Order: sequence, then C-alpha cells, then structure tokens
Amino acid sequence: SNQLMAGKRGLIMGLANDKSIAWGIAKALADAGAELAFSYQGEALMKRVGPLAQQLGSDIVLPCDVSDEASVDSLFDALNERWGGKLDFIVHAIGFSDKNELRGRYVDTTRGNFAMTMDISVYSFTSVMQRAEKMMVDGGSALTLTYYGAEQVMPHYNVMGVAKAALEASVMYLAEDLGKKNIRVNAISAGPIKTLAASGIGDFRYIMKWNEYNSPLRRNVTIDDVGKSALYLLSDLGSGVTGENLHVDAGYHVVGMKAVDAPDI
Ligand code: NAD
Repeated sequence: SNQLMAGKRGLIMGLANDKSIAWGIAKALADAGAELAFSYQGEALMKRVGPLAQQLGSDIVLPCDVSDEASVDSLFDALNERWGGKLDFIVHAIGFSDKNELRGRYVDTTRGNFAMTMDISVYSFTSVMQRAEKMMVDGGSALTLTYYGAEQVMPHYNVMGVAKAALEASVMYLAEDLGKKNIRVNAISAGPIKTLAASGIGDFRYIMKWNEYNSPLRRNVTIDDVGKSALYLLSDLGSGVTGENLHVDAGYHVVGMKAVDAPDI
C-alpha cells in the first residue's frame, strides 16, 4: 500500500461486480488511501455494489442511470451533500450497446441502437464532467475506459468501435476545456478482459486468445494491471498528463502482424 491518494475523494461509476474494470481501479485507489463513492445502475446491482464498496471502506453507494439527465443530477446533488461540494477525481467505466449488434456486420447497425450506444457510452462522460467540473474546485483528474476497436477494426466490436472513437475524441476536447481549471481528462485503452460487458461481444474467447498469443507480453491484462495505470493517471504522478489515451493492453497496439510463435486458435 502507498499514500498517493491520501486526502483525495473520488466517484467510481460502472462497478457491476468483482470482475468489473471499475473494481480493479477502485481497489488500487483505496489501497493508495483514496476515499471513494460508487454509483450503480438499477436496483439489482445494489446487492453486489453495496458489499464491494464496504470492502473498501465506503458507505456512499448511489443509483445513477446515465441515460437519464435527472438521474445524473440527483447523483451529483447527493454527492455534493455528502462531500461538501468538493471532488478530486472521477472514474467513468460505463459502456452499453444492444448485444445483437455486437456480432455480424457494422453496416447493419440500427439508428435506434446507434443513438443509444453513443448516448450511454460517449455522451454520459461529457454529461458527468459538466457536473464534476463544478465540484473539482481544487482541480481534478477524470478517467474513462476505451478499447483499441476505436482505432482499428476488431471483429464484432462494430458500433461500439465507432462509439469509442467518439469517446476518445471527447477526451481531447474535455481536456482542453477543463485544463484551465487544472482538471485533467484521460482514457485508458484496456486490452480484452472477461467482464459482464465483454461477454456480450461475439467470439470474445477468440479475441482473448488472439491477444494473449500476439501481444508483446504474450498475456492478457488483468483489472489490477488497469488499476495500477489508473492510479498513475488519477494521482499526482500523472500531473503533467491530460488528453492522453494510455494503452494498458500488454503492448498489443504496437503489433502489425500475427506473432511467428503464435499457436493456432
Ligand atoms: P462491466 O459490465 O463490469 O461494466 C460496465 C458497466 O456499465 C456496468 O457497471 C453497467 O452497470 C454500466 N452501465 C451500462 N449502462 C449504464 C447506464 N445506462 N447507466 C449507468 N451505468 C451503466 O464491464 P467492463 O468491461 O468493466 O466495462 C467498463 C468499461 O471498460 C466500459 O466502458 C467498457 O467498454 C470498457 N472496456 C472494457 C474492456 C473489456 O475487455 N472488458 C476493454 C476495454 C474497455
């Protein structure tokens, strides 16, 4: 344990269970002395998120559906009340698309699911930062999660790849707008990790194997790998870094071709 986050308060959005990337990040932050609040979507998740929050010494567990502006407002109203209007960091680990469109062809994406995917997976980060800005009175640091499917075509990632490209662009624009207030905005592009959200993507096992065999480190990353890099970006160690997209993917993004030693999948 270290004290990199001592005296710092932050909100974790997107914790569903102990496989969630948000959980890896929350653990690393709590271990570094951060005080955490959690938001969850839907009553069903409260049963899981409550005990996990408690494990990290937090009793601030608030509902929020990011597709509903009023719900985002009430989350920040409650947080304002609990923490006297001051917030130091925020983790946005939220994405969603109809799983029927996370297979087959991108070209077949429907207008309705396109709009919903962009709303929940992209606009929500901007919407949350509008409220967070007001609470980050001493500056702050924000982090969202993206995937390499924004930069290159990945099988089945489809509309989510288009959404992640927009999310990565919004990280740059948010970094510029909020930089004057010493609020830093960054993304981590995580390699494939078996989570609830990932299980909706077609042939996900194949993608995991491919990354394991072909990334420079010849392994997949864990939520703890992501947690440690998140700690860097959210703490003072990242003080000079904003608008960045840090690849925590065992190096997969630098690879141009299948490894010569890669077994068949
Ligand atoms: P997860 O299923 O554990 O987390 C996704 C979270 O999004 C859940 O907590 C869910 O409740 C929340 N969510 C969905 N719709 C919501 C809404 N309307 N309002 C509020 N919350 C909502 O899966 P995860 O893999 O940990 O996903 C976290 C982030 O990491 C996502 O942005 C995902 O795209 C990204 N990511 C995942 C991987 C991977 O391989 N797992 C790789 C790169 C990036």
